[in-house]
Amino acid sequence: MRIDLHIHTRPRSCSAIDPGELAQQARRVGLDGLCLTEHNCLWDPREINELAGEGGLCIFQGNEITTNQGDVLVFGYEEKVTGVLTIQDLRKKVEAVGGLLIAAHPFRGFLLFGITQLQMNVDQASRRPIFQYVDGVEIFNCKVTEEENEMALRVSERLGLLGLAGSDAHRLEEVGRCVTILERTVHTERELIEELRARRFTAEFVRK
Ligand SMILES: [Zn+2]
Ligand SMILES: [Zn+2]
Repeated sequence: MRIDLHIHTRPRSCSAIDPGELAQQARRVGLDGLCLTEHNCLWDPREINELAGEGGLCIFQGNEITTNQGDVLVFGYEEKVTGVLTIQDLRKKVEAVGGLLIAAHPFRGFLLFGITQLQMNVDQASRRPIFQYVDGVEIFNCKVTEEENEMALRVSERLGLLGLAGSDAHRLEEVGRCVTILERTVHTERELIEELRARRFTAEFVRK
């Protein structure tokens, strides 16, 4: 089951994606499912059902929450969050309801040097506080550089965190660029979380 875990639509996020065009585009690029991860904003579950329509696409609710340590995607936590939380607070809240936390684009804008220096800095990068409080890391995000994704991959391996793919799509053509492929079919956010935790997935960056 091919899922894009990280998608923004307008007007809930500053995205150019019209929700009405999303399902069709998702099917066109071969997705079986996607997660709506607006910034500190949740969808009404009934509206999500309408959005999915008849095409057999699964649409899940996520949320991208701003913390003092960077952006975090959460699944299975459906409380409205306003303002900036500390990463510790968010962890506590999400853990209490059995949800999942993923560090989104953890090195976006961090790496301004070449690959050699990058290798030397995996240890240092792994010590960023955010990684102590998340279950996984986005290792493929189509809005960051290859080096930034590469660093996220190395850190996820070093720390044994889940390594996931989500496009962070803000434009229709970005939908489905970064795909998490589940071994089993899921129908609910709970099942999705279970499969991710059990590591029954692979991550793919779809090259054009
Ligand atoms: Zn973000
Ligand atoms: Zn995002």
